[in-house]
Amino acid sequence: MASSNSKKQKELEDLKAKVLADKVCPDLAKQATQLVFGDGNPDADIVFIGEAPGKNEDLKGLPFVGAAGKFLDEMLAMIGLKRSDIYITNIVKYRPPSNRDPLPEEKSAFLPYLQFQLDIIQPKVVVTLGRHSLNCFLPDLQISKVHGQPKRYKGLVYLPLFHPAAALYNGGMRQTLIDDFAKIPTIIELI
Ligand code: URA
Repeated sequence: MASSNSKKQKELEDLKAKVLADKVCPDLAKQATQLVFGDGNPDADIVFIGEAPGKNEDLKGLPFVGAAGKFLDEMLAMIGLKRSDIYITNIVKYRPPSNRDPLPEEKSAFLPYLQFQLDIIQPKVVVTLGRHSLNCFLPDLQISKVHGQPKRYKGLVYLPLFHPAAALYNGGMRQTLIDDFAKIPTIIELI
């Protein structure tokens, strides 16, 4: 019998093929190098969700491989985790031109596929990175007020964090993000 990991891997590959076949956000797709679907362990307890791929991600086809990704890897290491322990993706899966914010209609177009991704992986915690990601799931919350506080909603636990790219060069926010990140192991333990 296939392990749950390879079953989930296959389901994720099928979902990726469906995003391509369904031609989600064709205008974004036209300007991007490729789809950046997601990466990591399909059996992970934690899924991290960012905003949209940037230049490096667009070129490599993998999420969070630039400066923000390096900072994320450092914070993962601080809590004893590696990329291969978690799964990571974005709401919008094509790079928006010139790294502009994703548009509401782009986020809405990708949201059902993101939900399917979560249904397949069935993580214990969804860590939202930045306000776009938080507000996709919990539209009424403000990141500045709720960062670092786990929120239970429709059977899942969400942990809103600041986006590592925003915190990278802002000393105060950087330390807040590191402190919030440090809560992840306890949150997982308590679920
Ligand atoms: N920022 C994001 O939100 N996602 C990435 O993949 C890279 C940077």
